[in-house]
Amino acid sequence: MQLYSTKNKQALVSLKEAVFKGLPEDNGLYMPAIIPILDSSFIRNLGNYSFQEIGYAISKSIFMGEIPDADLWAIIERSLTFPAPLVQLDEQKHVLELFHGPSLAFKDFGARFMASLMGYFNAGEKDPLTILVATSGDTGGAVASGFYKTPGIRVVILYPSGKVSDLQEKQLTTLGENIFALEVAGTFDDCQAMVKQAFLDEELRNQLRLSSANSINISRLIPQSFYYFEAYKQLGQVKDPVVFSIPSGNFGNLTAGLFAQRMGLPIHHFIAATNINDVVPEYLQRGEYRSRPSKATISNAMDVGNPSNFARMVNLFQETQADSASEKAAWTPMKTAISGYGFDDESTRSAISEVFQKYQYTIDPHGAVGYLALKEYQLNEKGPSKGIILETAHPSKFIDEVEAATHEPVEIPERLAVLAHLDKQSTPVSNQYSALKDWLQNHFIQ
Ligand SMILES: *Cc1c(COP(=O)(O)O)cnc(C)c1O
Repeated sequence: MQLYSTKNKQALVSLKEAVFKGLPEDNGLYMPAIIPILDSSFIRNLGNYSFQEIGYAISKSIFMGEIPDADLWAIIERSLTFPAPLVQLDEQKHVLELFHGPSLAFKDFGARFMASLMGYFNAGEKDPLTILVATSGDTGGAVASGFYKTPGIRVVILYPSGKVSDLQEKQLTTLGENIFALEVAGTFDDCQAMVKQAFLDEELRNQLRLSSANSINISRLIPQSFYYFEAYKQLGQVKDPVVFSIPSGNFGNLTAGLFAQRMGLPIHHFIAATNINDVVPEYLQRGEYRSRPSKATISNAMDVGNPSNFARMVNLFQETQADSASEKAAWTPMKTAISGYGFDDESTRSAISEVFQKYQYTIDPHGAVGYLALKEYQLNEKGPSKGIILETAHPSKFIDEVEAATHEPVEIPERLAVLAHLDKQSTPVSNQYSALKDWLQNHFIQ
C-alpha cells in the first residue's frame, strides 16, 4: 500500500511509515494512493460474513498485500473485539451503536486498530517505542485501552489535572503495565505544547523512539470504514436508498464513510450533522470554507472550529491536483454527496427527549444531533430512504444532560462502573516541558 500527502501527491510512503509518522512533513494528511473497489459479490453477500471477516476483507484489499494474511487476521482479531449493533427506531430511521468498546465511544475502533497495527510493525525493533499523547479527557481513554499490553510499546498520557471527569481520569490512570499517566498542573493546551516540544527535542529523540497516536493517523480511519459495511449488512435487503447521518467534529467518521462508498458500498447520501460549530455545513451551503474558534456545547466531542479531516474530504472530491482553489473545485461534487446541518443545544436537548418519548430509546447528545439532521434531510427529500444515525457515544458518558432530558436514570455499563473502585496511579508534574523530559529520561533511559 502506498500513501500520499494531501499537499503532494508525488511523495509516496509505505503504510508503516504513514502509521509511525502520523503526519507528513509538509503538514498535509496521508491518503491511500488507491482506494480499491471491492468485489460486488462480496457486497451482495455481506450477510454471510462476520464483522471481523468484513474488517479483514476490507483491510486486505486496501493494504494490498503489505501485511501477510495470518498477521492481518491477528490484527483484526485483536482490534475488532466488540460489536456494532443496528437498532431500528422506525421504518426510516436506525441507530448504529458504536459505543460497545472499553471507553464507550466509537474512537475505540480506531485506537485499537492503530495499536495492533503499530504493535505489528514494531515487532522487529529492539528498542521499545514510546507513544506520547496529550488528552483533554476522551481520546486518552480509547488510546490507553487500545495500547494496553501491546508488546514493545509504552504509552505516556498527559492530561490536565482537575479538568477531566472522574471516570475519564480512571480510564487513564488505572490500567498500569505499559500505560503511564502524567497529571499536568495546567491546561490541555499545556499538555499539547509539552508533547509537541518533545518531538522537536533532538537530544530526546536520539535517546528514545517516539511516536504519536493522533486522531489524524490514517490507521484510525481505516477501521472506521468497516462499520459502514456492518451497518449495511444488518439492514438486510432494502430497496430504498441508504443514507448515513454522522455526528461530526473533526470529520474522521464521515471521511471513513466516504472511503466505504469509494470501495463500492452503495451509500446514497451522507448527512454531516454538527452542533453550532458548523463550518462544514456552512461550506456545503455557500462554497466558502471559513474556520473559526470553536464554541462549547453539550455535544462537546464535536466542538471543533477547523476540522482536521476537511482536507481529506476536499482531496476526495477534487478531480485535479491540489491548488489554492481546491475548496472551490471540490464544492459541487461534495455538496451533491453530502448535506450538512447544524443544531444548537436547545434543539439537541429536545431531540434527546423526543427520541425517548417516541421510541423509548436513550440517545446521547452527539447521536441526538445526528437524529435531528436525519429528520431534516428526510423532511426535504421526496422519496423514502433508510437512514442510519451513527451513535458515537454511550448516553452514560453525558449522564447529566441525558437524564435531565429523559427524566429516567441512565445506567453506567459495568465495564466503566468497575473503574470507580480502582485506585488512580498517576504522577503529578508541572506544566513545563522540562518536567516531561525529566520524567521520560528518569524512567526510560538507563
Ligand atoms: C470524536 C467524537 C465525535 C466526532 O467524530 P469525528 O470523527 O471527529 O467527526 C462525535 N461524537 C463523539 C462521541 C466523539 O467522541
